[in-house]
Amino acid sequence: MASYDFLIIGAGIVGAAIGYRLAAQGRVAILEMEAQPGYHATGRSTATFVETYGGRAAHLLTTASRPFLEDPPVDFSDTPLLTPRGNLRFARPGQQAQLEQMLAACGPRIPDLEIVSQQAALALCPCLRPGLVDSALYEPRAADMDVHAIHQGYLRGARAQGAEIYLQTPLEHIEGTGGDNPRGRQGGRNWLIRTKDQMIEADWLINAAGAWADDIARLTGVQPVGIVPKRRTVVTITPPADMMTDRWPLVRDAEESFYFKPFAGNLLVTPADETPFPPCDAQPEELEIALALERMKAATGISAPRLSSRWAGLRSFTPDERPAIGQASDHPHFFWAAGLGGYGIQTSPAIGMITAWLLAGTPLPAASEAELISLIPEITPARFS
Ligand SMILES: Cc1cc2nc3c(=O)[nH]c(=O)nc-3n(C[C@H](O)[C@H](O)[C@H](O)COP(=O)(O)OP(=O)(O)OC[C@H]3O[C@@H](n4cnc5c(N)ncnc54)[C@H](O)[C@@H]3O)c2cc1C
Repeated sequence: MASYDFLIIGAGIVGAAIGYRLAAQGRVAILEMEAQPGYHATGRSTATFVETYGGRAAHLLTTASRPFLEDPPVDFSDTPLLTPRGNLRFARPGQQAQLEQMLAACGPRIPDLEIVSQQAALALCPCLRPGLVDSALYEPRAADMDVHAIHQGYLRGARAQGAEIYLQTPLEHIEGTGGDNPRGRQGGRNWLIRTKDQMIEADWLINAAGAWADDIARLTGVQPVGIVPKRRTVVTITPPADMMTDRWPLVRDAEESFYFKPFAGNLLVTPADETPFPPCDAQPEELEIALALERMKAATGISAPRLSSRWAGLRSFTPDERPAIGQASDHPHFFWAAGLGGYGIQTSPAIGMITAWLLAGTPLPAASEAELISLIPEITPARFS
């Protein structure tokens, strides 16, 4: 029988970030069903850090995560986690009001965020068709993330503090619950789990299973919060030989019907699709690939006779598209860390910090403490009960 204070289900970026923080506070185990952590959402992202992305919860969590990603502990990674790449969100004629709303919502938090003219937008990304662009919101301190380095930094750091990571070990069976839980067995810790190899007991079960988070809740008798995984498709194409693309920003339209950015010598393009899909090993569909290429061509004239690569992944949302972070309202030792949509990587430092604060009382950084605490009512899973 292995015995832990915290048993985390899922070694994607969310489970890894939480394991990294909690390992200093108690005995931690992470169960991961795949051989490779991050095989699903985390390993399939487009790796951007954008502080204007999503709603208020995403904004505050992302900004609170920036100091860690900019300046991680010395032994966390050999390479920088963030590399500057501005974010250019362009408005078509008649859409300027959308940019002004975004500037009003995010401007006070983000230095240098500004609305730029058509001329300035085309100087940043000369391939855009001039007739398409009225003006643009430019976020110069957006960045590319090294997702692999961030993820491995968390996992390595968790292990170094004594956490155990069980790969190819799905949570499939709950043997019992106990401790002060009135439903379960008496004595011992609160959760008793049978894996393929052994029995594990733990005080807390932390649900970081991404697209499978509602399945974990059902398995444990906890009320699901209504997670909806949505498939997103990505292609990479070779840019025209006469275009110097490396310094282009990440470019998207105001309504986010597509976006593109330079990516390892190619251009990464997505039609920003959001197709509800059951939890699975998501694969790209021809229709979405065709849409990505069509929207890219319409906006820039760039066409791609063949793809360099293609993939798809699942972004998982709660019904109100805010994350579910916190204790379940119907179980005293079940903790949700799910529904991170399209921003789970850029917010992962803050998710780890909030979880360690809620579960172990680890102090939050002074600079973001008030804002993170103000978010708790917006992200508590209790709002769905
Ligand atoms: C195309 C695309 C682009 C994206 N772009 C960005 C971006 O630019 N920036 C950003 O911040 N975010 C981005 N995201 C979102 C980001 O990838 C997710 O928010 C984040 O990876 C979610 O992390 P997670 O740990 O919750 O999920 P996952 O990475 O899916 O991890 C959950 C883990 O739980 C495991 N698991 C499930 N069930 C069980 C079980 N029963 N037992 C054991 N283990 C189990 C799974 O195998 C998986 O490894 C993007 C996502 C996609 C698909």
